[in-house]
Amino acid sequence: MAPSATATADITQVATLNNWIAGNATAATTSDFLPVIEPATGRTLARVPLSNAEDLDRAVAAAALAQRDWAAQPLKDRVQVLYRLKHLAERDLDRLADVITKENGKTMDESRASVLRAIECIEFAASLPQVALGRVLEVSPGVECKTTRTPLGVVAGITPFNFPFMVPLWMVPMAIGLGNAFVLKPSEQTPLSALELARLFAEAGLPAGIFSVVHGAQAIVEGICDHPGIAAVGFVGSTKVARIVSRRAAATDKRVRALGGAKNHLVVVPDADPEMTATNVVASVTGCAGQRCMAASVLLAVGDVDPIVDRIVEKMSQLRAGRDLGAIISQPAYERITGYVERSKTDAQLRLDGRELVDDDVADQIAGGGRYLGPCVIDQASPDHEASCDEIFGPTLTIIRCSTLDEAIAIENANPYGNAAAIYTSTGGAAQHFTDKAQAGMVGVNVGVPVPREPFAFGGWNESNFGEGDITGHGAIDFWTREKKVTTKWTAAAATNWMS
Ligand code: NAD
Repeated sequence: MAPSATATADITQVATLNNWIAGNATAATTSDFLPVIEPATGRTLARVPLSNAEDLDRAVAAAALAQRDWAAQPLKDRVQVLYRLKHLAERDLDRLADVITKENGKTMDESRASVLRAIECIEFAASLPQVALGRVLEVSPGVECKTTRTPLGVVAGITPFNFPFMVPLWMVPMAIGLGNAFVLKPSEQTPLSALELARLFAEAGLPAGIFSVVHGAQAIVEGICDHPGIAAVGFVGSTKVARIVSRRAAATDKRVRALGGAKNHLVVVPDADPEMTATNVVASVTGCAGQRCMAASVLLAVGDVDPIVDRIVEKMSQLRAGRDLGAIISQPAYERITGYVERSKTDAQLRLDGRELVDDDVADQIAGGGRYLGPCVIDQASPDHEASCDEIFGPTLTIIRCSTLDEAIAIENANPYGNAAAIYTSTGGAAQHFTDKAQAGMVGVNVGVPVPREPFAFGGWNESNFGEGDITGHGAIDFWTREKKVTTKWTAAAATNWMS
C-alpha cells in the first residue's frame, strides 16, 4: 500500500523546539525551521530550529565555563549524577519510549528495548571509578611512574535518526563521567529525545552547561567540526557524512570517531538449525523496520539451504507493517527503499514485496501521510547487484546463492562496509573459519544482531568506521580523555640514581 503525499501541515502552528544551553531551554537565534514529522501518521509534531553559529558559540562558552569545576570534582562524585540518571530513565521508561516511537516510528517494544540498552551504557559509565584506574609502578628505587586520565574539555556528539535516545547515550555518560562537557547535535528528524535527556540530566542534578543540545542540520555539523572550542567529536550516521565529519574535524586537529553505514551479511550453511536460523534472520532483517546499522541486509545462502530460505520467506510473509514492524522514517526514505524493491523485478527475483504486507489497521494513518513497508525479499541477486551492494536501510533481505563457504566469505569481504557479519552453523570449525576470516568489526555465530554489550566496545571496520578509538566500552575511556604520565621521586634512595 503506497503512502499518500508527505504531510503539508503549516509548521508555524506547532510547538517550536528550543536548544538546551547553560541548563535552560533557550530559543535559537534563527528564522529557519524544519518540521518534525511523526513517521507513523504523517502528523507534524513540532518545528526544529536550524541553529546558527551564534547558538553554537553560546553553548560552547557555557560548556567551557562549567567544565572547569566539573573536571575538578573527583570521578566518584561525578558519577553520582549517572546513578540518578539511570533511576530516572527507568522511572520514565514508558514516557521515553513513547517519545521515541512518536518521532522515529519504532514499535513501542523496540523503543523500550532501546531505552534499556541506553541504561546499560549509563550503568557502565557509572562504574568508571572501578574501571578507569590509572597505572602506577616503581620504575627505579624510590621513583614512581603513574598515569592519570584528564578530560579533553568541551566535546560534541552528532547523532542519526534511528536510535534517538540510545545512540547519544553511547557517548554522553562516558564523556561526562570522565569530566568533559558535552554538546549534542541530534538528528533534525528526531530531535525530541535529546530534550528528554536534558530534562533527566537537570533532574539528576547535573550542573548547568555540562550537557547541551543544539539543534540543526548540515551547517551546525560543519560549525561543530570547525569550532576551536570543541576538542573532540563523536559522530554516528551514514558513511557519506561520517567521512566528511572525520576529515573536517581532523582538519582542525580534533579527535574524531565517526561511525558510518553498513551492509551486513548473514551466511547460512546447510547444517544450520532451520528454525533458530529462520527466526533469528527474520528478526535481524525486520527489527526497527530494518532501519538499524546492525540489521541483516544480505543472506549468503551456501549450498542447498532451500528449506531454511523457504522458512525465512514464509515467516517474513506472515509479518505486517503497522502491526509487527514500525514506520519508515520519511517519504524520501520510503521512496529510496521501494525503488530498490521495484527495480529488483528486472534483474533478480522479487519473492516478497513488502508494499503488499501492510496491516489494514493503519490505512487511515497512511492516508494522513504515515509510511509503512512490510518485509521484502530479493532472491537470486548477483554479488554486484545494487541490492547486494548499497545500504538500503529498510526491511529488505537480498539473497545471493553461493557454492562454498569461502565464496560467501569472499563476497562478504569484498563489500566496502565492515559493521557486522554472522554465520549460522552447528559446526565449530565452520564458525571458527568464518570468525577468523570475516572483515567486519562485529561478528556473530548464530546471532543475527551481534551487538557487543558493555564493557565491550561497539564499532565496525572499513567504511563503517572512521577515526580513532572506540565510541563505547573501555575504548571510550581513551577516546574522551588524555593520559598524563607523572614521574615522582620522594625518597633519599632516589637521590642517588640516574634520575637525580
Ligand atoms: P545521516 O548521516 O544522514 O545523519 C547523521 C547526522 O549527520 C545527523 O545529525 C544529520 O543532521 C547530519 N548530517 C546529515 N547530512 C549531513 C551533511 N551533508 N553534512 C553534515 N552533517 C550532515 O544519517 P541518518 O540518515 O540520520 O541515519 C542513518 C545512517 O546512520 C545509516 O547509514 C546507518 O547505518 C547509520 N548508523 C550507523 C550506526 C553505527 O553504529 N555504525 C548506528 C546508527 C546509524
